[in-house]
Formats: sequence, C-alpha cells, structure tokens
Amino acid sequence: MNIAIIGCGASGLICASILKDNGFNITIFEKSSYIGGVWCYSKEGVIYDNLVTNLPKTIMQFSNKYPFKGYSNDSFVSYKEVFNYLETFYKDNELNKFVKFNSEVKKLYKKDERWTIEYDFCGNKLTNRYDSVIVCNGHYEKASNPTIKGVNLFKGEVFHSAKYDSHLNYKFVNKNIAVIGKGPSASDVARLIKNFSNCVYVIDRSLNPNEEGYKSEDNKIIQVCNLDKITGENELNLVNNKKIYVDYIICATGYEYDIPFLDEYISYSDGMVKPLYQHLFYARDPTLCFVGLPHPVIPFFMSFLQSKWIVSVLKNKNLPKETERMKWIKKYEDNLIKNKISNKKYHNMQTTQFEYYRMIAREANILDNEFSKYIDETEIIYKKNLEEMPKYPGCDDNFRKIIYKRNI
Ligand SMILES: Cc1cc2nc3c(=O)[nH]c(=O)nc-3n(C[C@H](O)[C@H](O)[C@H](O)COP(=O)(O)OP(=O)(O)OC[C@H]3O[C@@H](n4cnc5c(N)ncnc54)[C@H](O)[C@@H]3O)c2cc1C
Repeated sequence: MNIAIIGCGASGLICASILKDNGFNITIFEKSSYIGGVWCYSKEGVIYDNLVTNLPKTIMQFSNKYPFKGYSNDSFVSYKEVFNYLETFYKDNELNKFVKFNSEVKKLYKKDERWTIEYDFCGNKLTNRYDSVIVCNGHYEKASNPTIKGVNLFKGEVFHSAKYDSHLNYKFVNKNIAVIGKGPSASDVARLIKNFSNCVYVIDRSLNPNEEGYKSEDNKIIQVCNLDKITGENELNLVNNKKIYVDYIICATGYEYDIPFLDEYISYSDGMVKPLYQHLFYARDPTLCFVGLPHPVIPFFMSFLQSKWIVSVLKNKNLPKETERMKWIKKYEDNLIKNKISNKKYHNMQTTQFEYYRMIAREANILDNEFSKYIDETEIIYKKNLEEMPKYPGCDDNFRKIIYKRNI
C-alpha cells in the first residue's frame, strides 16, 4: 500500500516511522526545506527564540519507547532541545529516505479509487497517486487576528504573537503594551516583555467588566477586561468604559485550521474540521486521515496514538461503517449544542483528552497493563503541571522549575 503523509513536523515524523515499521510504502511531502515544523526555528516561524516548553518532557515525548535521552535534567526545555529530539528521531528512523522537501501539496482529490496529490516542487507542478493520505500539516500557521474597531486611529504597532521574538524587546523599553489573550502565548509574551516595559495590560475577555483584574506587585502586569474599541492615537476604550494608553498591541489570539488543498472534501472554518470521525478519520472515506487536530492536548503523544490507530485500521479495515461514523458525528455535535459549547471548542480536549487516549489505545490494540499505567501516570503529571501554572497571564513561570520523573 502506498501512503502519502503531508507535513514533516512532529506528527508527520511519528506517523511515518510507525507506518514504515508496519511495512507500508510511505512518501512524506514537506513544503519547507527541513523537518520539525513549528520546532524548526526561523525568524518567520511561530516560535520565539526564548521559548521554553509548557509541558514537561517526560509527558511531551512521543511515548515510553521514545524518551528525551541525554539532554538536560530540566523538565521544561528550550525549543532547541525539542528540535534536537525530533532531529535525532528523524535520523534514528532513517526517515530521510522518504521525505520530499520543498514539496508543497496544492491539491488532493480522489479519482479511480486512489488519491491524487498535486504538488509544487521548486516551481514545478508534479502529480503522484496514493492508496491513502494522512494530513499532518499542523495548525499554527494561519494566525487568527481579532477585528479591532477603530484600529485606523491607532498610531502604535499591532502584531500577532507569532511575530514576537526577543530581538524585538528593545522596542518595548519604557512602553505600555496591550497583550490580547489569556492562553499560553499571551502569558509567555507578557512575562517575557514585562521587565523591559513600563506596563503590560493583559486584555482578558473572560474578566467580568465590573471586577478589578489582577495587578502584579510591581504594577508591571495589569489584567483588564475586553477591548471595546480604539478611540485615539494610543487610547483604548475597554468594555467597562475605562481607558488605557498603549504603544503596542500584541494579539495572542491563536491560530486557525487551514487545509486549502482539500477544499472540495472537508470544511474547516470557525475552529471545526468536518466531517471527521473521532477527530481523525474523514468520515466518508477513512483512507484520508488527519493527525494532530485536537487541542489543548499532549501533541506528540496524541499523534503517536492516532498513528497507531490509523495503522490498525489500514491493516484490519475495522472502523464502523460510514452510517455509524456519521451518527457518531451527529451525536458528538448534538452534545456540544446541548452543553452550549462554542464552535471554536469543537476539537477542544482539555478535559476529555485522557478518555480519548485510552479509547484510541484500545482501538489500536495497544492498551496492555504497562501502557495503561503509562497513560495513568501521564494524566497525573499533566494535571499536576496544569495546577502549577500561573493563574494569571504574565506571572512568574516557577512551574517550569519543577522536575517531573516517572516511575515506569
Ligand atoms: C508558540 C507555540 C508553543 C508551543 N509549545 C508547545 C509545548 O511546549 N509542548 C508541546 O508539546 N507542544 C507545543 N506546541 C504545539 C506544537 O504545535 C506541537 O508540539 C507540534 O509541533 C505539532 O506538530 P505537527 O507536526 O502536528 O505540526 P507542525 O509542527 O506545524 O508541522 C506541520 C508541517 O507540515 C508542513 N506543511 C504544511 N502544509 C503543507 C503542505 N501543503 N504541503 C507540504 N507540507 C506542508 C509544514 O511546513 C510543517 O513542517 C506549541 C505551539 C506553538 C505555536
């Protein structure tokens, strides 16, 4: 069976190695000139040069078979260490034999029972055909920017957190900055720039406008409620009608799914990629799969598990029938509606991820006692880490000083 994998980031790498080990013929299409996806740092990339992980490496690793070996004792490591881990994995598994670099997939469609991939290789348009295609193209490339009323009045600079890098710190000296968002990027960027700045306002739309937000002792971090509009060259009016004055606005407002080569088959707007069975298999034809979509999760581990399930399905053809898959989607969506969960949280697995991991491990037939303990331990470490994280964006990252070790 010939299988194409689109993307050579962490998901593409683990998926390729598992498929290869199971005897499938694989080809990996990677539009850039190297492996690692977001972890391959470049000035244009989304990670910043002072990024340290927010998951301890003992749970971030692909699985117990692939630990971060021979690195620092710290549990939280720089992007360089993560990149080294992926590069070592790539070399150890000899995946170089299967990658087509500088090969951007432009179109994917099914014809005569096979998937056709049209791709661009250094300006040349080429075509190949496969029995199955696994999309591992990541979801941190297309920045999601908020619509800010009155932005034309603003005389400062507005940019997305994806563009942040430490070489920009000089710009923030003695300035006021608004960081929009309350996720991990907002927290990190606020913390990394606060000591250069006069003050960082963290605009957190979940804060009740009638309540006072968090204020750090040194007044460097002030949490404020949602932005209403920009009302002057540096003036921001908040929804409680209070005003703040800033020189920069950094939008740590996340990213959108983007799968432009598949427009005909799936929809991917408003945080939802549809129709997928279990966030993984194209429900109408599971020879097309998507690894790595759910969030927030333990990405490397989830991609490992999803790849194991894909292999099992490719070998045993044991997924439920299309009608059952569509029924699963209907039930899943009805439940979201019943619980008033917004579209943006369609693939959100903050609270359900461990249930999901166990279900996949069962389906992939790898849930023996040892692996079951591995998942249990991963869950304990994950939850402890979550508890230790700062309660407000921009607070000190003491949680990264904790060392996590496994018993198994
Ligand atoms: C700022 C930031 C911090 C993060 N911190 C952590 C952390 O601490 N711990 C953690 O576990 N995770 C973290 N993550 C999540 C991270 O995305 C995952 O760890 C992991 O990199 C996901 O891998 P992926 O292969 O699915 O996607 P990516 O790494 O995005 O790789 C996708 C690959 O597909 C390629 N591609 C895309 N489209 C095409 C196409 N049309 N044709 C060919 N190739 C294509 C891209 O070039 C890329 O190489 C962070 C993410 C960000 C943005």
